[in-house]
Amino acid sequence: MEGFDHIARNLESIYHRIEAACRRAGRDPREVTLIAVTKTVTAKEVLAAYRYGVRHFGENRVEEALPKIAEFQQMLSAGEPAPTWHMIGHLQRRKVRDAMPAFDIVHSVDTVRLAAEMSKRLEPLGKEMPILLEVNISGEASKYGFAPADVPAAVEEILQMPHLSIRGLMTMAPIVAHAEDARPYFVKLRALRDELAARYPEVQWSELSMGMSDDFEPAVEEGATMVRIGRAIFQP
Ligand SMILES: *Cc1c(COP(=O)(O)O)cnc(C)c1O
Repeated sequence: MEGFDHIARNLESIYHRIEAACRRAGRDPREVTLIAVTKTVTAKEVLAAYRYGVRHFGENRVEEALPKIAEFQQMLSAGEPAPTWHMIGHLQRRKVRDAMPAFDIVHSVDTVRLAAEMSKRLEPLGKEMPILLEVNISGEASKYGFAPADVPAAVEEILQMPHLSIRGLMTMAPIVAHAEDARPYFVKLRALRDELAARYPEVQWSELSMGMSDDFEPAVEEGATMVRIGRAIFQP
């Protein structure tokens, strides 16, 4: 993968940092899935990361993701397994129909109406979609996501929808000066997950999607099972 050595180096460094964070927290690094966020990078860069072993990719905009996923799929050699594509950004209801065939999991379910549209569009595909509920833990007006207090009502409605399978929660911490300052938001997301797990034991609350390039270490220490990392992988 000529010209993409920086991706290999960045990945190696990130894996080491994830392992170190796991060690500090007494966790098994195999519990943490690295999702390489490929918004803004080309299919060639996605392929480079794939060939270096990455099997999970995240995109945040449907119109950018669909052609890129198709182009990437063409570049794979016979026998190379398809990776898992994660939808991590705000999903507009009018884009759901196009998005459902392309993605394997959606982290950014932020309204009950969106969930209902997804279930409806999944019906003809005969597909069950694993989903995470996005929670606006910080309460910032600029952020998408359920207010923590609204999550139980949303869970009860979504549990009635046949093609969706709740797997956990996702959040974005505010932009902070030091990674450490993001920690309280991760602690709150985990606490909310634990409350929901007690209240809805029929749901498999296994996933906590939290942590990005600038704050993934405290996120892993606080229980992240999925970290979504873009710049730290793809920037030279
Ligand atoms: C872009 C993005 C990321 C990754 O951000 P980086 O700072 O590049 O690591 C993670 N999650 C979401 C929802 C994003 O849109």
